[in-house]
Amino acid sequence: MKTNFLTIFAKVFHSNNLLVMKVIKIAFLTFLVLLISNISLSQIINKKMKTGFRVSQNRSIDVLIIHSVFNNSGGEIYDIDLIIKQFSKYGVSSHYLIGRGGETYRLVDENNVAYHAGKSSLPDGRQSLNSCSLGIEMVCSFNDSITYLQLESLVKLTKDLQARYKLKYILRHSDIAPGRKTDPWNFDWEKFNQMITLNTNQLK
Ligand SMILES: [Zn+2]
Repeated sequence: MKTNFLTIFAKVFHSNNLLVMKVIKIAFLTFLVLLISNISLSQIINKKMKTGFRVSQNRSIDVLIIHSVFNNSGGEIYDIDLIIKQFSKYGVSSHYLIGRGGETYRLVDENNVAYHAGKSSLPDGRQSLNSCSLGIEMVCSFNDSITYLQLESLVKLTKDLQARYKLKYILRHSDIAPGRKTDPWNFDWEKFNQMITLNTNQLK
C-alpha cells in the first residue's frame, strides 16, 4: 500500500491506542486554535499616525468611546487615507478606524493617548477623557448608517477590548459631549449593546 502524508495523518488522527498519538492530536488541535486566533488578530491593518496623539506608558484604560467620521475635505467621502489626512490636518486621531467593508485599521497604539474625545465629561464627573479612554471611529456620513460588516467588526473589536480591559463605560461621543457632538450618526446603539453581550458564535 502506498503511504503518503494523508494516510499517515488519518492513522494518527484515528488511533486511540497510544499515548503519543493522543499527544500529537492535542498538539495539532492547539496549533489549529492558535492559527485561527492569529488569523483574526492579523485582520487589523496598521496605519499608524504620526500626529494627533501623545506617547504614554502604563496608563489605565476603563472607557471606550464610539465615534463616526467621513472625509469632508474634498474627494471620496469614505476614503480611508483621506480621512486619516483630515485627522492629521486637525491634529486629532483615534485608536481604531473601521471602514465600510468592516476592515479595521489601527491608527494609534492602545497605550498611547489619542486625541479623540475633546472637551467632554463622564457620568462619574471625570474630564480629560483622552487619557483614560480608547476611541473607535466608524466611517459613516450624516446621511448614512454603518454597514453590517462594520457593526460586526466593531462588536468583535469591542469584545476583544472588554476581554483585555476592565471597561467601566462604553459610550457614544454624543454621550460625553452632549450639545457639542452628535456622533456616531444613525447608529443603532441598542442593537450594538445587545450584540456585545452575546457570545461570539451567536452573532451570525
Ligand atoms: Zn466623535
